[in-house]
Amino acid sequence: MYRISKDPDGVILICHDCPHVEHIDAFDESVGSRRTQAARAMQAHSRDEHGAGSVLKPVPKDDSLMAHPD
Ligand SMILES: [Zn+2]
Repeated sequence: MYRISKDPDGVILICHDCPHVEHIDAFDESVGSRRTQAARAMQAHSRDEHGAGSVLKPVPKDDSLMAHPD
């Protein structure tokens, strides 16, 4: 959903699906890992902008698994 790169300002996360970028240096180290915060921000972006990253998608129900013809 994103790739990690470097530019003159530091490490950045680049969205796979659009030009959106998160700058790791823009986050506040005092509240936790900046890299983790940037990754979270990018995941939120992906979810909100591209509908990706949902881990709560229901598994499609396959009725054939419920039938035991024997
Ligand atoms: Zn994007």
